Parts: sequence; C-alpha cells; structure tokens
Amino acid sequence: MFTRARLHLTLLYSALLGVTIVLVAGAIGILAVQEARRSEDRQLQIRAQSMAAAIPPGPPPSPSGPPPIPGPPPGVERPPLRLEQQGLLEYFLPVRDGQIFTPPFGGVSGLPDLSAAEQAKQSGKGQFNTIKVSGNDLRIYTLPVVRDGRTDAVVQVGRSLYFVNAAVADLALIAVIAGAAGLALSAAAGYWLAGRTLRPISEAMDRQRNFASDASHELRTPLTVILTNAELLTLHPERSLAHYQDVVSDIIVETQRLSRLVADLLTLARADQGTAARSLANVDLSEIAITVTRQFEPLAEAKGLRFESSIEPAIFVSGDADRLQQLAVILVDNAIRYTNTGRVRIEVSRGRGTATLSISDTGLGIAPEHHKRLFERFYRIDTARSSEDGTGLGLALAKWIVESHHGHIDLVSAPGAGSTFTVSLPLSPAPLYPQDQAAVDRSPVGPISSTSRRG
Ligand code: ADP
Repeated sequence: MFTRARLHLTLLYSALLGVTIVLVAGAIGILAVQEARRSEDRQLQIRAQSMAAAIPPGPPPSPSGPPPIPGPPPGVERPPLRLEQQGLLEYFLPVRDGQIFTPPFGGVSGLPDLSAAEQAKQSGKGQFNTIKVSGNDLRIYTLPVVRDGRTDAVVQVGRSLYFVNAAVADLALIAVIAGAAGLALSAAAGYWLAGRTLRPISEAMDRQRNFASDASHELRTPLTVILTNAELLTLHPERSLAHYQDVVSDIIVETQRLSRLVADLLTLARADQGTAARSLANVDLSEIAITVTRQFEPLAEAKGLRFESSIEPAIFVSGDADRLQQLAVILVDNAIRYTNTGRVRIEVSRGRGTATLSISDTGLGIAPEHHKRLFERFYRIDTARSSEDGTGLGLALAKWIVESHHGHIDLVSAPGAGSTFTVSLPLSPAPLYPQDQAAVDRSPVGPISSTSRRG
C-alpha cells in the first residue's frame, strides 16, 4: 500500500515534470531554430544587397558565376566537393531584353535557380527559397537589380543549411539527453521525497490500526465479564438478588471500567481530530493539586502509603481546569497504584516562567527502555505488574493534555527506585481582579469519585 502510493506519486510527479520539460525545451528549441534561420537569412540578404550595389549601371554587365572549383594536381583524383564546404555561393545573372542570361556554371549542379530568378524578376522583389542541391538543403536569396524601371540583373546568394541543421540536430540531442537525465534524477528525488512525505502518514495509519485493534481488545474483556455475569443472573430466576451480590458488583465494576475506557478513547479520538473541547481560563494549579490531594489521601492511606504534598499557593497557568485536573488525577492515581510501600508526593512550584507539577513515588519504578514508549496508547509494561483496572491510556492522555497546554512532561525513574513525573507548563500571571478569581473558583473542578478517577 505504502510502496504503491509512493510509486503512484513518483509517476505522477515525473509525468508532470516530463510534460513541463518537453513544453519548455520544445519552446526554447523552436525559438532557437527560428532565430538561427532568421540570422542566416539576414546575412544572405545583406550580402545580396551589397553585391547588387556593386553591379555598375549601364549596359548589362557580363555574367558572373561561382568560380570554377580548382582542379586537382595532375595525376591526383579530386574527391567530390560537398556543398557545405563551398561556403557562400554568390553570383548574378544579367538580364538582356527581358531574358535572363545564364552564364556557364562551374562546380555546383542545380544552380542557378532559374525559376526563383524568373519570379524575382517579375515581382521586382527579393525572395527566399530553399532548394535541394546534391541531397543538401540550400537556402537562396534572390534579388532583382532594378534601375530606372528596368531589371538589369538578378543576384542570387545561397548557403547550405548543413551547419544550421547540424546545430539544430545537436541542440535536439542535447535537449533529449539533458531532459532524460533531469527526468531520471528528479524521478529518483521524487521517489525519495514521496517516501519521506508518506512515511509519517503510513506510521499514523499503522498506529491507527494498532489503536483500533488494541481498543477492541480492551473493550472485549469487560464486555465478556458483563455478559457472563448477566447470563449467570438468568440461570436461577427463583433466587433473590441478594444471592448474587458478587455477580452484580462485578457487573458494576466492569461497566464503570468500560465507561472509563470509552470516555478516554473518545477524548483521544477527538484530540486526534483537533476537536477535543478545551476551554481557556486562568487556572489555579495549586488549587487543583490541593483538591487532588484531598481526594487521594484516603486512598493512599488505605494502602498504607504516606501522602506528602508541597504546594506553593496561587500558581496560575492558562488552560482548561477540567483537563489539568484530569492530568493530576492520572499521575497521582498511577503513583498510588504502582507503589506498595513508602510514600507518594505531590509538588507544585514556580520556576522561571514555568509552573511545575511533580508527582513522585517510591514504587516499582520503570526501566529506561520503557520510558519512550510509556506515553503511547495502550502501552503497559507488563500485564502482571499493571493494575487490573488500568486501561493503558492514562499516560497517553496525560501527554496530550500537557502538550495541548504548550508544556512538556518528563520522567525520571528506575526499577526499584520509584518514579517522578514532572510537568512543566507556561506560567500565567495571577488574576488582578476579584471577578477573575471568581471565574477560576467557578471552574468545574468538582469532586471525583474513585470510579471516575480519570475524568
Ligand atoms: P494504566 O492504565 O495501565 O495505568 P497508563 O498509561 O497510565 O496506563 O500507564 C502505562 C503503564 O506505565 C502502566 O501500565 C504501568 O506499567 C506504568 N506506570 C505508569 N505510572 C507508573 C508509576 N508511577 N510507577 C510505575 N509504573 C508506572
């Protein structure tokens, strides 16, 4: 799928580039050829005009023709002289009594071009034409010499188009080679670029696929438990509900887990779409930490853990009070769940332009190889140590909340040495007016029940 899309993109890109190269090179080539021909014609015209001016007025002059090609030394056979080797051919044909007089012509068969000379004499104007001489194109300019309304002579100046045609052929060859090389190079670059562009998309799709399969797996477990227990209830309808206290309580616990999971999944899906609601207010992080401490202290004590807190008052950040509370709950809840002895500590302090929320524990700790992947969705270190009611989404949610508040989250942890999660957020100034503080107080930082511990 990735390779096919990459090939398609490369092909599309190369085809577009190929068409562009052909159009641009074609236009340049046509203009260059036209310009070369025009300049060649101009030279012939100038030459013919200067020759016509040199013909003396008066009785018709003696005819001129191309000089006879010098013969070879005696005993040496002369190779046939090719047209392109003869340079500029120039001669004039006298006109006597309206008749064009043809001089004896040496060297080049096919010349003079009598039909062009006749046309020029009749029209009284110079004209260009191209004829074939010994298999080569010869460009000729024919100019009548008209004096006192009488045509005295016709001048013809010609040059082989061999060099112009050879230059055009060379130009075309160079254009084809350069175009093909450029196309091959840019196709290779396009293939590489397409790979680079598509890789994140392909990775995102892989993640999405894994996410969907992990989510289905996580949803199936509580659903199976609920279904099995519900079926159990229907087996003996004559028995009273009191008889099934454990079964009902299992159903309730699993339904709560299910609803938590669905809520987390929904938040993350909305976060991916960029539609997760986030209200902006000046939020008192210290107040949130105090609330979470109050909520979780009994839970920690019930587990035999010390719950310590060090909270600097009135530390404000700009953000969503609900989400920031959810963040603190996730981290404190994890700290308590993954700590069997010792203490859990929550700290809020002010740094240079930052507010810091730090949650540390003396629990199991996390090996360095897990640190990077720990914030991925459904990533759990091992099912044996991960708690039964965990979903593997807590830290992914925590990371999204922190990043959507333009902060970052760091982890310092080692197996057996406990863990410290430190969240740094941009500090906001404390509200100046009482009504601002009232808005903060009204922010929905309500009590959290142990079943809806993650929001
Ligand atoms: P879960 O719902 O499983 O707790 P999280 O995303 O919150 O999912 O955490 C991912 C994994 O990281 C947990 O399964 C656990 O193995 C590990 N973990 C998280 N917090 C701690 C901690 N404070 N101490 C030790 N391990 C932790």
